[in-house]
Amino acid sequence: MGGGGETLGFACTCGALRGEIRDVSPAAYTNIVCHCKDCRSAYTHLGLADPEKVGILQTTQDRVRITEGGENLRVFRHTPKGALRWFATCCNTPLFFTPLKARLVHVGVNTDRLDRPEAVGKVKARAFVPSPGGKVRNEGLPRMVGRMVSRMAAKNLNGEWRDTPFFDDEGAPTRKPQVLSREERAAALMGLRS
Ligand SMILES: [Zn+2]
Ligand SMILES: [Zn+2]
Repeated sequence: MGGGGETLGFACTCGALRGEIRDVSPAAYTNIVCHCKDCRSAYTHLGLADPEKVGILQTTQDRVRITEGGENLRVFRHTPKGALRWFATCCNTPLFFTPLKARLVHVGVNTDRLDRPEAVGKVKARAFVPSPGGKVRNEGLPRMVGRMVSRMAAKNLNGEWRDTPFFDDEGAPTRKPQVLSREERAAALMGLRS
């Protein structure tokens, strides 16, 4: 292993859950900002203020290692078909986003949890940016999706999709996802500023 990229540390707010993202050369990730309600209400559901936008380092799950406090890792879904929102239960800190299927290999790491957020460079895409007239605007999405798909293809070809802290060998989540009730989802959305 090791293509010469950097190792980036991350931790929950209280520091009980820690880990690292390995070998993050710029080719291995895309740094984005998402303004969507699901990303933001992952914070309000956990009792935090609406961040209004969420910085996300998109990479592959095999690069993520949890080195301490893994017993604090939990996961919820906004809806029965929703993606997985991983967080640290010790201090209710949102940490990661993954799709439901392990083979997709994609993970979004919240950049506010990185020890050195500045190490991931410029934002390459912006999603669901509020615009005049209540519309949303996206920037850089085709490139972002293209990079995601090529990372996925490479990992599936190499059989590396199994190498993840988020799914077991059968592709089931390593923690049982809690599905928010309609009331919980409504309460999380109520916490959004717009
Ligand atoms: Zn914590
Ligand atoms: Zn989002």
